[in-house]
Amino acid sequence: MSVEFLPQASDVRPGHREAQAHAGDQPFTYPLTREYVEPDWRRLAGYRDVSEEQWNSAQWQRAHTVKNLKEFKEALGEHLTDELYTDIERDQQERATMSMLIPPQMINTMIESDLYADPVRRYMAPTYSEREPEWPSHPLASRDSLHEADMWAVEGLTHRYPTKVLAELIPTCPQYCGHCTRMDLVGNDTLQVLKYKFEMKQNDRWDAMLDYLRVTPQVRDVVVSGGDMANVPAKRLQEWLFKLMDIENIRDIRIATKGLMGIPQHFLQDDVLAAYDAIATRARERDKDVAIHTHVNAAQQVTPLWAPPYASSSTWASATCATRACCSAG
Ligand code: SF4
Repeated sequence: MSVEFLPQASDVRPGHREAQAHAGDQPFTYPLTREYVEPDWRRLAGYRDVSEEQWNSAQWQRAHTVKNLKEFKEALGEHLTDELYTDIERDQQERATMSMLIPPQMINTMIESDLYADPVRRYMAPTYSEREPEWPSHPLASRDSLHEADMWAVEGLTHRYPTKVLAELIPTCPQYCGHCTRMDLVGNDTLQVLKYKFEMKQNDRWDAMLDYLRVTPQVRDVVVSGGDMANVPAKRLQEWLFKLMDIENIRDIRIATKGLMGIPQHFLQDDVLAAYDAIATRARERDKDVAIHTHVNAAQQVTPLWAPPYASSSTWASATCATRACCSAG
């Protein structure tokens, strides 16, 4: 799709423009005083009896991911006050564009002694009182703020810039962030937003994306996103990426996942490590650049578990690098 700009003769010059942007308050004190240790989950009511083995299991994390306010309260116990509970509940009734989904790993990085101010709680479980009355997340927020669907070449494949595409492989993540700009597609319905449902079958859609890229030699850079790649079975992701790497014109591949922080346990599983190693090896053989494209909203979420073996793996490190942002198209 092309966006038309039709210049028209005019003798009107734009007038004065007031500079309006300003920096927010500095949230950090430097040097950081926070200890680089995994916070002890047993301090929280819901995780008092959880063993290290359970905590480090991706399956356990997914099974105990908080899906509603009642479960959020069970996890945080007395730290989630009645006032905060009611405020989040009202947001879900009247404003929320994303459903609740918070893995225990993320809850464990919240500062439970002051949940109202805690940045992780604020973006994962926003309250009614902290929303701007005029707009829910951004003054220009809309169902599909970045107009990604307007530029689909095939369903879920946004072709906006000449050499880059965004491939939305799936519409789910292991965690749902209150501010998500893909509110149109990602997550479960809320009272405010009924989500778009992909119409094509997943395998057909993935094949159609590859077919389009095979006949579009201008494209060299693919952001492989969704949704979050932590929700695609590693072997399936590997198979699709191998086919993508077979396409001569594709040179750069960015695998988008916030799950690297939200549920690092996923990436520590043997089969996932093996798949990512195979991806990195294939990339090196084919002379392709592959990166993990990730996003951490709050510094306190960077814990020892977040830095999985990918950072130290010689295979992976030599073929890839980690870059920013889980869901940007370019
Ligand atoms: S992980 Fe990214 S795509 Fe998923 S809900 Fe959060 S911001 Fe949206």
